[in-house]
Amino acid sequence: MAKAKANPPVTKKTKAPKFDKQAAAQRVKSIYPILKKTYPDACIALKFANPLELLIATILSAQCTDARVNMVTKDLFKKYKSPAHWIKADLTQIEEDIRSTGFYRNKAISIKGACEKIVKEFNGRVPATMEGLLTLPGVGRKTANCVLGDAFAIPGITCDTHVIRLSRRLALSDNSDPVKLEFDLAEIVPKKNWTAFSHLIITHGRTFCMARKPNCPDCPIAKYCPAANYPKLW
Ligand code: SF4
Repeated sequence: MAKAKANPPVTKKTKAPKFDKQAAAQRVKSIYPILKKTYPDACIALKFANPLELLIATILSAQCTDARVNMVTKDLFKKYKSPAHWIKADLTQIEEDIRSTGFYRNKAISIKGACEKIVKEFNGRVPATMEGLLTLPGVGRKTANCVLGDAFAIPGITCDTHVIRLSRRLALSDNSDPVKLEFDLAEIVPKKNWTAFSHLIITHGRTFCMARKPNCPDCPIAKYCPAANYPKLW
């Protein structure tokens, strides 16, 4: 990964400026190629081999690290290979198998419920539409966009905690509600780049723009970031 030259501190700000959609669109144009160059291999961290595995892994990733989910799914996906396997399994057994990902009771109910619906209403296949995915228990827009983008190559903006935080700091939206923010981003990021943009922003959030201590002095997009050196204002 290329490391940028340290950025000079900017004049101290005391108030975040008003959101400007045109300027935000221009900012996306400027930062996208830099992020692409900085993170040429940015991609989803969850491991999966098919849409069902990604759906399950994404449900398990709520309030859990991707690394932990990958540890659990390594054996889990050998045991449960199809929606039918999940449906036949005892709920308490599923709970036990996914326990270490946290919130395991709700997650087990969601996974079993989603698989039942997939079998009954979608011929045993994970639906490849936002509308279809949203009918599945435990699936919100974030999960649906992730599955669409990474399992079906249908552009999707995944509004996770990193995307929300960075979009605010980069003044790409003035909304913190994930759904409103997703629609804001959809207007300023070209549709063909939605999935890649999500991965780039998530990777940047893990590498430079961390929640507590962002590394603004070394950040390769600081020149375009209104929050450079003062991320707490956003
Ligand atoms: S300059 Fe700072 S706040 Fe802005 S994107 Fe970079 S690390 Fe985040």
